[in-house]
Amino acid sequence: MKSQWSDIEADAFAARYAAEGVNRDVALRVYTTRLLGADSRLVLHGGGNTSVKTAIPDLLGEPVDVLCVKGSGWDMGRIEPAGLPAVRLAPLLKLRRLERLSDEDMVNFQRGNLLDATAPNPSVETLLHAFLPHKFIDHTHSTAVLSLTDQPDGEALCRDVYGARMGYVPYIMPGFQLAKKAAEVFERDPSVEGLILVKHGIFTFGATAREAYERMAAMVTLAEERLKRNRKPAFVPAALPERPAGVADIAPLVRGLLAEDRGDGAWRRWVLDFRGGAAVRAYVDGRDLARYSQRGVVTPDHTIRTKNWPVILPAPEAGRLEEWRNAARAAVDSYVARYHAYFARNNAAATPAKTELDPLPRVVLVPGVGLFGVGASKKDAAIAADIALNTAETIADAEAVGTFQPLPEADLFDMEYWSLEQAKLGKGGEKPFARQVVVVTGGGSGIGAATAKAFAAQGAEVAVLDRDPASAAATARECGPAALGLACDVTDPRAVREVFDAVCAAFGGIDVVVSNAGAAWQGVVGEVDDSVLRESFELNFFAHQTVARNAVRVMMAQGTGGCLLFNTSKQALNPGKAFGPYGLPKAATLFLMKQYALDHGRDGIRANAVNADRIRSGLLTDAMIASRSKARGLTEKDYMGGNLLGREVFAEDVADAFLWLARASKTTACTVTVDGGNIEASLR
Ligand code: ZN
Repeated sequence: MKSQWSDIEADAFAARYAAEGVNRDVALRVYTTRLLGADSRLVLHGGGNTSVKTAIPDLLGEPVDVLCVKGSGWDMGRIEPAGLPAVRLAPLLKLRRLERLSDEDMVNFQRGNLLDATAPNPSVETLLHAFLPHKFIDHTHSTAVLSLTDQPDGEALCRDVYGARMGYVPYIMPGFQLAKKAAEVFERDPSVEGLILVKHGIFTFGATAREAYERMAAMVTLAEERLKRNRKPAFVPAALPERPAGVADIAPLVRGLLAEDRGDGAWRRWVLDFRGGAAVRAYVDGRDLARYSQRGVVTPDHTIRTKNWPVILPAPEAGRLEEWRNAARAAVDSYVARYHAYFARNNAAATPAKTELDPLPRVVLVPGVGLFGVGASKKDAAIAADIALNTAETIADAEAVGTFQPLPEADLFDMEYWSLEQAKLGKGGEKPFARQVVVVTGGGSGIGAATAKAFAAQGAEVAVLDRDPASAAATARECGPAALGLACDVTDPRAVREVFDAVCAAFGGIDVVVSNAGAAWQGVVGEVDDSVLRESFELNFFAHQTVARNAVRVMMAQGTGGCLLFNTSKQALNPGKAFGPYGLPKAATLFLMKQYALDHGRDGIRANAVNADRIRSGLLTDAMIASRSKARGLTEKDYMGGNLLGREVFAEDVADAFLWLARASKTTACTVTVDGGNIEASLR
C-alpha cells in the first residue's frame, strides 16, 4: 500500500474547510479518512473508523476538548466534518473506571455528550479511540492484515511480521470491553505504533494525521510483503461443465428460488448484483470451495451484510437448466435448514433470547459463472457483492500462505444478533415497489420518462430503454444512482433479447414491463402505401409483442408472476380520420394485451393497458399542438383541454395509471382511460 499523502492536498483540505469554520485538525482528519476510505482493500461500506482529539469552541466561545470520531452511517471514502461528530472527551475517559457497561448505556452516554445533539451516533468503537492517548487514530479492516490474522496461528504470523512495533489484542466484540483491553495492551508497551485486533483489523496512531496514516500504509505494506512469500497455489480448479450457462439465464432462476410467496399474488423478492471477474472465478471455481467459503466472514462486521457464509449452487450447464433449478432449490433449502440450526444452537445460550432473522443467503456462489450479491435493493445487493469479492481476495491470500480460519461461529452469532449492529440496518417500512425491477421502453422522454421516474420514486429498480442512448441515460440519472439507461431499438428482436439479458444480469430479473415505445404514422386508409402500414405495425404492434414475450420468458423463469403494461391509445378504440396506420396496430396491441392476460393468468402474469389521449410528447409536439389548435380556431389551452372535464392531461397522469395497474394484484385484461373524458374512446 503506497502512501497517498500530499502536503498540497492536505493544505487544500485545510483551506477549504477553514472557510466553513472547521479547524485544521478536523479538516486533515477528513482528508486522511477519505484516503483510507477510497481503498476497498482497507475498508468497505461503513467499515473502519478514525478519530482526532481536538478543541472546539462551544456556544459561549469557550474551547471544549473533544473526540471527533466517525459517526455511524457514514462511509470513510465520502466523509465530511458532519460525519465526525464531536463528543466531550473528559466524560468518556471517566467511563474507564467502570467494571462493565451495556452497549445501550454506552450509546446513550456517548449521545448525551455530543456537542451537537443532532449529530449521528458516534462509532461503537468510540471508547477505544478515547482511551488511547494519541491525537490521530486510524482503524481499517485491511484485507492483507486479515489474510494473516484469519489463520489457526494468526497472531503468531502477525508477531512474526511486526514484532514489537505493534500490540496484539485478542478478539473481543467491539464495545466497552474491547476498548479497555486495547488500552491495557497499549499501556503495556506505549512504544507501539498501532494494534493488531486479532481476526478483526488494525489500528495505527500518531501525533499528526500524516503519522497515523503513514503508519497504516507501512503496516499494511509489511503484511502485503509477507503474503508474497512462500505462496502455494490457493485455489485448485474443480472440474466444471464445458458449456456453462450464462448469467442472464440463471439470474432469474436464482431470484425465483430466493423469493418468498406471501400469498394472493404478493411476493417478497430480492435484487441481485452479479460479479464474475478473474478473482471471483478463481474463488468459486476452486475444488475446495465447500471448505474455504463456509468458514465465516473475514471480519465480524461483514456478517451484518452477508451473513456468516454464502450458499453454493451447483455449476449450471447450458441447455440443462431445469435439472439445475431443482438442484439449486435443494441447495437453498439446505442453506435455510442450516441457518435455522445455527440460530437454534447459538440462541440457546443467548440472554436475552434473540428473534431470528430471515434465513436466506446474501451471497450466492455459482461455480463456472461467478457470484451474486443479494439485497432488498440494488444498493444492498452491490454492498453484499463488494464484500463477497473482498472476501474472495482475502481468502485467496490466506490460503496461499496457510489455511483460512476466521472467528468461530459463536462470536459471529454475537455480531449478527448484536442490537447495535442491527440498528445500522435500514429501519422502517419499504416503499411499495421496493425489491421490484421495472423496465420501461421509450423511457427517454414523455410518458415513458414520467413513468420510469414514478416507479423509481416508489422504490423500484428501474431500467430505462430508449432508441436514443443519451435520453435513456438522462432519464436513468433522474431515477437514481442504481437505475440503468440502455439504448434499444424495440423493433429489432435481437436487440430486445440483448437488453433483457443485460437487465437480468444487472438486477437479477424483471417484474414489471411498461411497453410504451410508439410513434404515429398517418394516411388515408384506402390510399396509404402498404410500406407505411407495415412500418407502423413493426413499432406499434410487433415491438410490443417482442418486449412482452421476452418479459414473459424472464417472469416464467422466476416463477413469481409479473405485470405487463401497454401504452395503447385512444386510437385503439376510437379511430381518428387519416390515422389508420397508427390506430390499426394500436388496436391489435390492445387485443395483444387481452391475449397475454388470457394465456398467462395462470402463471400469475397480469396484462393491462392505459388508453391515453392528447399528451404533450414526442408524438404530439408543440408545433403540432400549435397548428391543430389554430386549425380549429382554439387557443392551445382549449385544444389540450378539449375533453369532458376540460382539463389538460399530463404524462404524469398516465404514469399514475401505470403505477396503479402495477399494484392492482386482482386486475388483469383491463384498459384504464386517462384522457380527461372522451365518450367515443370510453370502454363502458
Ligand atoms: Zn473494526
